[in-house]
Amino acid sequence: MLRDAQRAVVVDPGQSAPVFAALQAGGLQLEAILVTHHHADHTGGVAELHAATGCRVIGPATEPVPEPAERVAGGATVEVFGLRFEVIDVPGHTAGHIAFFCADVGGAPLAFTGDTLFSGGCGRLFEGTPAQMLASLDRLAALPDDTRICCGHEYTLSNLKFARSVEPHNTALADHEQRCQAQRAAGRPTLPSLLSTERAINPFLRSRNTDVIDAVRRFAPDTPRDEIGIFAALRQWKNDFR
Ligand SMILES: [Zn+2]
Ligand SMILES: [Zn+2]
Repeated sequence: MLRDAQRAVVVDPGQSAPVFAALQAGGLQLEAILVTHHHADHTGGVAELHAATGCRVIGPATEPVPEPAERVAGGATVEVFGLRFEVIDVPGHTAGHIAFFCADVGGAPLAFTGDTLFSGGCGRLFEGTPAQMLASLDRLAALPDDTRICCGHEYTLSNLKFARSVEPHNTALADHEQRCQAQRAAGRPTLPSLLSTERAINPFLRSRNTDVIDAVRRFAPDTPRDEIGIFAALRQWKNDFR
């Protein structure tokens, strides 16, 4: 939820009840819902919130989202809450997944990346190809260093466990894992992350790094050396990782 003293915008409300509770607690009017992709854990609360508040619903052009919704695709800009969000196409997790980027919210950029870029990881490829996901992550990785990454799930610690087995000698990663473990032990979220941090620690943004390529090819020696082959094998490694 993004809010000021009177208004709020929520992203990917999987349930309505926690949003209603936050609106009531803050005395807030829900102005809009932003939806990154069609999965129920991101849209389950949309219909009830819209019915109760009449808020705008803004979602991906090519995916089913509870109606009535305004449909947007990459290159569009969305004005909500006095802020301008750029829409970025990020297919891979789903075929029509979008992300929302605002260059300045309270002095720093903000990106809502849904289930495409997580802290320390990326979404599973349910509807898209490794090539699409790699291109989508490249688009997000090109945002400014100080972009705050607001992703769809707090999967950070399990992602970092995998990242450490890919890059056991990455000291930035080890430091980040310690910080995140302390956050979780104190009952706090690890999110939002920073894009500069993700570039240093997230193996899915580092799949062209020699250490990552070598690790993938040690794990799966038959992996093709091209960047899409490496990325696909890295994603498969994560799928099987426990
Ligand atoms: Zn999803
Ligand atoms: Zn999700």
